[in-house]
Amino acid sequence: MIYDVAVIGGGPAAATFARRYLLHRQGASLLLIDGQNEQHKKPCGGLLAPDSQKALAHFDLTLPKEVLVDPQIFTVQTIDLCSRQVRYYQRYYLNMDRYAFDRWLLSLIPPQAEILPGRCTAVARCKEGFVLTVMTESGEQSFLARRVISAEGAVSLVRRTFYREPKTRYMAIQQWFSAGEERAPFYSCIFDPATSESCSWIIRKDDALIFGGCFALQDSREAFEQQKRRLESYLGRPLGEPIKTEACQAVRPRGFSDFITGRDGAYLIGEAAGFISASSFEGISSAIRSGSALAEAMSHAANEEELARLYRRKTASLRLKLWLKTLKRWFMYTPWVRHLIMRVGLAAIHVEQENK
Ligand SMILES: Cc1cc2nc3c(=O)[nH]c(=O)nc-3n(C[C@H](O)[C@H](O)[C@H](O)COP(=O)(O)OP(=O)(O)OC[C@H]3O[C@@H](n4cnc5c(N)ncnc54)[C@H](O)[C@@H]3O)c2cc1C
Repeated sequence: MIYDVAVIGGGPAAATFARRYLLHRQGASLLLIDGQNEQHKKPCGGLLAPDSQKALAHFDLTLPKEVLVDPQIFTVQTIDLCSRQVRYYQRYYLNMDRYAFDRWLLSLIPPQAEILPGRCTAVARCKEGFVLTVMTESGEQSFLARRVISAEGAVSLVRRTFYREPKTRYMAIQQWFSAGEERAPFYSCIFDPATSESCSWIIRKDDALIFGGCFALQDSREAFEQQKRRLESYLGRPLGEPIKTEACQAVRPRGFSDFITGRDGAYLIGEAAGFISASSFEGISSAIRSGSALAEAMSHAANEEELARLYRRKTASLRLKLWLKTLKRWFMYTPWVRHLIMRVGLAAIHVEQENK
């Protein structure tokens, strides 16, 4: 059998593409290779930002409460570990269980899709289109598809095989701790230029607390541990024994050339295409937007050339928005600019801690 489309990945980009593609082409065959499972969950802050909420609202989707976790948050406490400045900013995120969110999105795909648990280990062009090698529970299998959609996130096999890799990547490391009795910040954003050029986070998830951040690939674990010690010293208490540690790579786009949408049957969506915010690492909204843009382009394009052009056009505003985030990054991560913004209290709100 030759599938019309093979999608590699089971995150929000893949699930959105598959759902929207089959909605437009009911007779089409689609294979989705899903590498995520209980043992290999995507490490994530699990915050659904207003842009992601808007992307879901666009399709009239509502979020089941099973996807949400305690507590829901109204502010982010921003801490600069070097200058010891602290400010609070209002936020409108939904706090959720990221794995449950991904499973929910997958459950919305029409049943004609074939969802295969497994990991794609190789992809190559052949006369039918593409041949994919997939490691499944029952061993290695091969599949043929006319088109391949890369939705594997930061480390994309398709991108590595056919296109240019993103210039900058980080190692994202997260540790889970028991939240304990002590009052911990519900949601903090931590700047510590001594150990990372990006911000880190603490987020409560029911009875757990996650602390994570993005670090330079080289010596990432040491930088993480050093930052953890600096944070513990700031908080005045240890975070405790980690329940689990998880890690994955994260892409940081630096300019338009880092966004690759694909052509000639091999297309990229979500983080694989470089669609992630360089300032906050928010990426769910871009995954949903690009997944649906490609599905829509496929239902209108007459040939590969037109499809590549149409998909690029449909993601033009997304690419512009994400490029502007690369500029915003300068304001957030240049220490003297951030110190000034925090000192002036621009957009900050006053928070009185009642339980201290
Ligand atoms: C630590 C961290 C925290 C983040 N926090 C947030 C947040 O709070 N809010 C937010 O909006 N964004 C956040 N992001 C960004 C966001 O997670 C991503 O941008 C978003 O998930 C991208 O969606 P995607 O579908 O493109 O890829 P992913 O969600 O990465 O999904 C890719 C899927 O493909 C699978 N896969 C990979 N390779 C293969 C293969 N070869 N074969 C089969 N399957 C494969 C993976 O298992 C994964 O399930 C965070 C990122 C990181 C790293």
